[in-house]
Amino acid sequence: NTVTKIAVVGGGGVGKSCITLKFLRNVFIEQYDPTIYESYRKSMLVDEEAAVLEILDTAGQEEYKSLMDRYFRNSHAFVCVISYDQRGSIGQIREYVKRIQRAKDEDDIVGLLVCNKCDIANEERAITDEEVKNLSLELNLNLVECSAKTGENINDLFLTLVRNVRKK
Ligand code: GDP
Ligand code: MG
Repeated sequence: NTVTKIAVVGGGGVGKSCITLKFLRNVFIEQYDPTIYESYRKSMLVDEEAAVLEILDTAGQEEYKSLMDRYFRNSHAFVCVISYDQRGSIGQIREYVKRIQRAKDEDDIVGLLVCNKCDIANEERAITDEEVKNLSLELNLNLVECSAKTGENINDLFLTLVRNVRKK
């Protein structure tokens, strides 16, 4: 059985660990050590076909930078996370996507632009729907809004990636 390797990337504090742990354990962890860089495995059925997912929750420390390129090269799909409360997360995801494309030597990566913390009210958001839509077009990644807090779209986004890897 082949393993689908999925890397979760994005700036610090966007919710990478919360998304990963919500998916794996169905819990929302309010505070999670921001330096933890860890991979996890989960077996499941996707469209009645067995799948083994290996999910890499990344953290951005310098000492991981050279490891990161190697991990990116070996990953099949990418959860590219920005968050409604962080304007800076837009610039950060642009850099990650470039880095992934370079590591894989391919522009056409299997990934989703995942906009986390959609539970945050409109008036408290630091980025607009319009900006998110434009970013999705610019990066050529389909957009998914999610919330690790409520669980909205968390399972779906991983299922979509497994399907997209199978199609490729
Ligand atoms: P990481 O650095 O990208 O791994 O970010 P974390 O997963 O550690 O989350 C950073 C902070 O954002 C934590 O305080 C979380 O409680 C919070 N957070 C994560 N996901 C959500 C979400 O969907 N909604 C809200 N409101 N807060 C979230
Ligand atoms: Mg983290």
